[in-house]
Amino acid sequence: MSKVLIIHTGGTIGMTRTAEGYQPDGEYFRNAIFHMDSLKAPGMPEWDFVECDPLLDSSRMAVREWNMMGKMIADRYEDYDGFVILHGTDTMAYSASALSFMLEGLDKPVILTGSQIPLCETRSDGRDNLITSLIIAGEGKVREVCIYFGGLLMRGNRATKYSAFGMRAFESPNYPILATAGISIQYNESAFLKKEKKDFRLQSFEDVEIGVIRVFPGFRFDLFESIITDKLRGVVVETFGSGNIPGDKDVLIPMLQKAKDKGIVFVICSQCPQATVDMSTYEAGSALRKAGVVSGRDMTSEAAVAKLYYLFNVCNDADTIKQRMEEDIRGELTPEENE
Ligand code: ASP
Repeated sequence: MSKVLIIHTGGTIGMTRTAEGYQPDGEYFRNAIFHMDSLKAPGMPEWDFVECDPLLDSSRMAVREWNMMGKMIADRYEDYDGFVILHGTDTMAYSASALSFMLEGLDKPVILTGSQIPLCETRSDGRDNLITSLIIAGEGKVREVCIYFGGLLMRGNRATKYSAFGMRAFESPNYPILATAGISIQYNESAFLKKEKKDFRLQSFEDVEIGVIRVFPGFRFDLFESIITDKLRGVVVETFGSGNIPGDKDVLIPMLQKAKDKGIVFVICSQCPQATVDMSTYEAGSALRKAGVVSGRDMTSEAAVAKLYYLFNVCNDADTIKQRMEEDIRGELTPEENE
């Protein structure tokens, strides 16, 4: 029988009502899942349960918590066949993306899940999300970092939060779904990540100064120049459509040139969820390419942010980071030759 570790980090699934609104409640949640008969039913994997301290709303999570989750898995990697991480939905796609890079050579399922309605409420979606994630982690067919939510299994670094109220809270706009859970769990095996030819190891992250800028019609880069050039090492720019950027090129290009000289990496993603950045399509984009800006292709912003953290932690120079940013490292983007 396979054995799965459930890691409770916080989020709606384990919250109860307080006068100030829902808050994580470790004791309630521990009791609830230890008394849930379906988690011990025949066919379920054996499981252990660990809890983070403190339990957090995921909007409060950052690099420290990503490292902590990574370490919890790495320390117990040999003891379990799979891992389920219970996590708030707000930043689940960021944590899943970060873990996908941190857990090098991963060869076991790591499934992040949570719920829109806490387990303490009658209509909670947490029950199915937890049970199905546990089954998927125990079956061990998919061996990568995933998000399971509302009947869909998605690659973690391809997923993005789509709805704050629907039970189908996540979408995978630019990559196929890895499995659908209907009457049975139907796996889409051809979409699974191929195992990397390296042993498992944890690459934890040092904090890196990263920014995300969302452009809009009339956006003026010059107003952001001081923070862009002095404080940041990596910037994800969420542009229009397939990588088009507004503004006066005579201001923007010299500014980007200055940033490039300082080793700052600019990555272009799209505001449009279903898109591939192609900076050669329009004149507005090709000027960026000339200024040393990197294409995030069809990556989500969440994956681009996590990848910047990863690359700044494993590479020594901006040119290598830029080159690797456009390469497929953990299935987070579709490289040009595969289009
Ligand atoms: N604010 C909650 C969190 O991300 C939302 C959720 O879990 O759905 O922790």
